[in-house]
Amino acid sequence: MFEENVSLSKYSNYKIGGPARYFLLADNASQITDAIAVAKKEKLPVFILGGGTNILFSDKGFNGLVIKPNLKAIKQQGNMVHVGAGASVAELLEFTVEKKLSGFEWAGGLPGTVGGAIYGNAGAFGGETKDRLVDVMSLVTSNERPEIKLRANKDAQFSYRSSIFKENNAAGKQEVILSALFKLEPGNQEKIKAAIEEKKQYRINRQPLEYPNIGSIFKNVDVKKLSKEVTKRFKEKIKLDPFPVLPTAVLNDAAGLKNTRCGDAMVSPKHPNFIVNMGHATEADVKAVMAIVCSKIRSEFGVILEQEVIFV
Ligand SMILES: Cc1cc2nc3c(=O)[nH]c(=O)nc-3n(C[C@H](O)[C@H](O)[C@H](O)COP(=O)(O)OP(=O)(O)OC[C@H]3O[C@@H](n4cnc5c(N)ncnc54)[C@H](O)[C@@H]3O)c2cc1C
Repeated sequence: MFEENVSLSKYSNYKIGGPARYFLLADNASQITDAIAVAKKEKLPVFILGGGTNILFSDKGFNGLVIKPNLKAIKQQGNMVHVGAGASVAELLEFTVEKKLSGFEWAGGLPGTVGGAIYGNAGAFGGETKDRLVDVMSLVTSNERPEIKLRANKDAQFSYRSSIFKENNAAGKQEVILSALFKLEPGNQEKIKAAIEEKKQYRINRQPLEYPNIGSIFKNVDVKKLSKEVTKRFKEKIKLDPFPVLPTAVLNDAAGLKNTRCGDAMVSPKHPNFIVNMGHATEADVKAVMAIVCSKIRSEFGVILEQEVIFV
């Protein structure tokens, strides 16, 4: 049923990570249910993988079962779109252009899958995944018998880069997101396409997409957590996304952290909240750079950075 010894670097946008002991590309919910039953019996930890665009995998790999839900169906229901968790955000956006549906343009260029975007309530340009979500279907695996659950938006406890799925996972109650329903509105095809392209272009201009990376390493800083002096110094840089934050890239730049390098992991000079893989970076290289950044930002600005990326 499972592939064995599968390199996770192949599934990581960072191109970092050792092997997964077992790996399953699951085509439907019942395969996922069966796989989890086997893992439980064998007492193997399970990790659910999306597009691997927000994860730093261990160099040692994952001594358990990695399941990648390959649920990619996208269907229109009037102004609503029902989408499988394994579809990429890019595929969803392509579909919205084809069907002339507006409301997801903010996600232009957002890498990863719909499942990953829901899990972390991914957001950009003032938009968040939760904004258009009607409901989300998941497989609760922590009960004795796996159970399919449909949650309305309000019950999914979305917050800044978080959801009930992330919270529950942290509490040891893993769920697999299977699909979601989004409510959009009819729009002009050319305008929808242009808005998506504009966001993509913005990212190409500002983000070091030419190197393997996993996006912003640290969360932007809530202005409430800044001292008066720091707030005053960076007043012009504060932005609303989705509440007043100071971009961590601004602090990293001001602290002179651009190009800080350990092995092949380096703070990008193009976007200093990205740590890029310059060739053969390891997990240890990335963590070493992260530690330098955290310590410098704490000593210079009294800010304790919170990581946005996930360690596995
Ligand atoms: C160049 C670049 C730019 C980025 N820009 C942004 C940005 O603007 N805004 C932003 O919010 N993020 C951004 N990111 C981070 C990342 O793209 C998002 O967090 C994305 O939503 C992660 O999706 P993924 O499918 O790759 O998830 P993965 O990285 O594979 O997984 C992330 C987490 O989601 C969980 N997960 C994934 N699928 C499921 C599922 N079906 N069921 C249960 N859990 C699941 C995983 O277990 C893991 O804990 C960026 C990343 C890159 C590389």
